[in-house]
Amino acid sequence: MSNPLLEFQGLPPFSQIHPDHVESAIEQLLSESKQQIDQLATHIRDATWDNFIEPLENIQDRINKVWSPVSHLNAVMNNAALRTAYNNCLAKITEFHTELSQDKRIFNAYYAIKKGSEFVQLNIAQQKTINDALRDFHLSGIDLPAEKQQRFKAIKQQLSKLTSTFSDNVLDATNAWKKIITDEAQLAGLPDSAKAMAKQTAEHNQHSGWMLTLDFPSYYAVMSYADDRELRKEMHDAYVTRASDQGPDAGKWDNSEIMAEILALRHELALLLDFNNYAEYSLATKMADSTDRVIHFLHDLAARSRPYAQKDLDAVKQYARQHHNIETLQPWDIAYYSEKLRQHEYAITQEELKPYFPEPVVLGGLFEIVKRLYGLHIKQVDNVETWHKDVKFFEISDDHNQVRGRFFIDLYARANKRGGAWMAECIGRKKQNHDIQTPVAYLTCNFSPPIGDNPALFTHNEVLTLFHEFGHGLHHMLTQVDYISVSGINGVAWDAVELPSQFMENFCWEKESIDLIARHYQSGESLPSDLFEKMTAAKNFQSGMQMVRQLEFALFDFRMHMEYDPAIGDRIQDTLNEVRQEVAVITPASYNRFQHSFTHIFAGGYAAGYYSYKWAEVLSADAFAKFEETGIFNRQTGEEFLHAILEQGGSREPMELFVEFRGREPTIDALLRHSGIAA
Ligand code: ZN
Repeated sequence: MSNPLLEFQGLPPFSQIHPDHVESAIEQLLSESKQQIDQLATHIRDATWDNFIEPLENIQDRINKVWSPVSHLNAVMNNAALRTAYNNCLAKITEFHTELSQDKRIFNAYYAIKKGSEFVQLNIAQQKTINDALRDFHLSGIDLPAEKQQRFKAIKQQLSKLTSTFSDNVLDATNAWKKIITDEAQLAGLPDSAKAMAKQTAEHNQHSGWMLTLDFPSYYAVMSYADDRELRKEMHDAYVTRASDQGPDAGKWDNSEIMAEILALRHELALLLDFNNYAEYSLATKMADSTDRVIHFLHDLAARSRPYAQKDLDAVKQYARQHHNIETLQPWDIAYYSEKLRQHEYAITQEELKPYFPEPVVLGGLFEIVKRLYGLHIKQVDNVETWHKDVKFFEISDDHNQVRGRFFIDLYARANKRGGAWMAECIGRKKQNHDIQTPVAYLTCNFSPPIGDNPALFTHNEVLTLFHEFGHGLHHMLTQVDYISVSGINGVAWDAVELPSQFMENFCWEKESIDLIARHYQSGESLPSDLFEKMTAAKNFQSGMQMVRQLEFALFDFRMHMEYDPAIGDRIQDTLNEVRQEVAVITPASYNRFQHSFTHIFAGGYAAGYYSYKWAEVLSADAFAKFEETGIFNRQTGEEFLHAILEQGGSREPMELFVEFRGREPTIDALLRHSGIAA
């Protein structure tokens, strides 16, 4: 098997990616690229878009296409050899990018084009490419004196290593913990599917009985359903102390010092560039224009939501006391009694809904929604090489049979696959010699796998996650921008990038669209209307508590970076405690170290940017409100969203695009209404 379509565009076959060869291939590629850049740099004086920027973008695109499958395999088919090769290459790639971002010759060429007569004749996307590049050059310390530039480079490299070690520690700590159950009675309360999954995990590990792990589906099932309070506590303790100084593996993969070092280095980096702190540095590339505005935005939402969150918590407490004689609700009780209360009030469980969300129906329905909204067709392509037998490959085309994008989809949790769900760029769109390079996406989830001969059955939460990531995928794949730096999700401000993804989630809550994605896997019957009504009634169950939890993460992240003071050192736990004091309603266990596995901000791109989720929710809720006003499958509104948002990528400012679609700036009303938090 092979990928002629992808190899034609420069993507190496997955089967040819061997840890032994990765390093030399990357080294050679980087050295060739450096030579090409040196050659380009000799034309600085007469630099134009065509003789300078386009070839430079092509060099970087070639590196991305070789690196993307390596980095992807490291995330989804991890092993010791690949991890070592990946980390070694990562250091080299980071060094390459850092050098490029500090190359005065390149900076001067961009600057000359910006100041030259050609600039005004370039189109908006090209101008944005140049403006973004100049901004990023500035942020990469191009104006710094040599000595500071040296320090800047060292910090960047050190941060790249530390963040990678941070996430390796989380993965190792997650994989290390296992519990074998030999007496089925200990699993009382667990739904059959969760038990079957635990049995299958045990079998795969050559054990009899059932095996519980800290993979999210296994952990979540126990926390929500296991009657055995001790078992819940044991798993809770292991989960919330991963990679920390606490818990069953205390000190073994402890991220404490790594986190302190990451914060210190980020702060130093921000100061080098004349920002007051790393939060300011983070906002330089975002839609939000000041730290004050972000803090005010989060406090505003927190103040409005906290009373609702308190009511939510009181309801669980009262329920546990009245119906189960639990006087004091412990952290490992909350999900469990919440689930019981949800069943009590709405008589509905994620488990009851699962038979209605078999994978083929969900995927087929999702594709039908895309067809109705945007007139696009999605079909599976067989005989394409992937990295695992469970992975499928699809193609999106329009009414004129023009292929718009392609994607891999890898849905199930398995060992050595990083947790969570994400969309990543495999190939980006660009135009070269009148040819279009078709975008390709990786869509990765960690859902419960099929059991036996049945199709995989998804919880409604999993369906939401799939729609979310697919929204990112559409943003990446449907772009019509011809320049790689601003096509798809490239060049989109972080706090606006969740607009298309969160927007898609809305279609998991409307009767009209649910009918397309839900059908019983055995009887073929649609989701019964009483179940649908219960489901929507339950939608905002504990939405206050969920809102303040997200705000807790966002405020913690933002304040930790904004308030960092080298004279004091890291105040990670203190800041977290203060934030909880202000916004949270649940008091976690004193040994809870959730921050030690908070990869979004310590190892991902969300540092001083976690608030972006809420910021973008405001945008997506308000955008969907236009569909509520005109009909959720209104083709014209769909076309407007496609043209104003999805196709534009990062070629224009997000506020400008939003106003073009909505006819005005965003307001928070729709988000509060959708969350059931409105006076
Ligand atoms: Zn997302």
